[in-house]
Amino acid sequence: MASPDVRKAGVIGWPVAHSLSPALHRYWLKRYRIAGEYEALPVAPEALKEFIKHMPQEGYRGANVTVPHKETVMPFLDEVDESARAIGAVNTIVMDRGGLKGFNTDAYGFAENLRQYGFPAARNKAVVLGAGGAAKAVCHALAKERFAQIVIAARTAAKAKAIAKALPIKTSVIGWENRSAALEGADLLVNATSLGLQGGESLEMDLSRLPETAIVSDVVYTPLDTPLLKAARARGNRTIDGLGMLLHQAAPAFEAWFGVRPEVDEETRKQVLACISGR
Ligand code: NDP
Repeated sequence: MASPDVRKAGVIGWPVAHSLSPALHRYWLKRYRIAGEYEALPVAPEALKEFIKHMPQEGYRGANVTVPHKETVMPFLDEVDESARAIGAVNTIVMDRGGLKGFNTDAYGFAENLRQYGFPAARNKAVVLGAGGAAKAVCHALAKERFAQIVIAARTAAKAKAIAKALPIKTSVIGWENRSAALEGADLLVNATSLGLQGGESLEMDLSRLPETAIVSDVVYTPLDTPLLKAARARGNRTIDGLGMLLHQAAPAFEAWFGVRPEVDEETRKQVLACISGR
């Protein structure tokens, strides 16, 4: 067991071995010379409640939460902040004056990634593919960043409609088969599905109606340069990969647990990329 002087956090998931969070947080711990530990914490769904209950006495300052616990963890926390309640999922837990508080930093991470590499010149229309957890965070970020309109193209209309209903801006839901036609006049296209993920199904997309000034972003980061991003770049669109979202969502959590706001810079990217390519 770590000494009480060593600050401890980790990532809770099932399975969790694939998570890049340990490599990222351990790199920052070393870089900022902090006496801390960050562990991969495999917790089965039926063990989640007990695990969360014992986190404070086990000395955890907090944790990241990943699939499949992001939604189911919420009732086991003492408090859930507004961003996590709006998105309906928690990805970060922080020990706060004796209680466990849940946050969602995915929307922040998505927006900061765009900020770092440049938002589109206009924020009139964004097309978001998918209606899962990542899509929810992306849509909330776009609403906060004052896009005028979001079009969600999703396979499961009910999930997309639920996202649209919770957003404070004009949002329309279209069938998955209409996704390419919806690109007319778009300033931003975001793939927030799991399509394009290494070893999985590919994303079929006709980009011919997308304006050349539009930015194309993908939440998938393995591979880093997804077929969608390659196709977009080949026709002159600027692209932003999904790794930055992962790095930026981690920064406020690291600060809350370890007391230092880490920099999301090229060296951080390099360290995590080395971990991806070493797999
Ligand atoms: P979910 O399972 O919650 O959502 C997946 C989405 O993809 C759903 O809308 C699903 O549709 C859709 N989808 C899957 N297969 C198809 C298909 N054949 N046709 C149409 N739609 C399809 O996963 P998450 O949202 O949590 O994650 C999605 C991706 O985002 C993952 O690759 C994950 O690694 C990545 N991610 C990246 C982050 C980052 O920091 N860069 C952060 C979070 C996630 P349906 O609802 O109909 O099943």
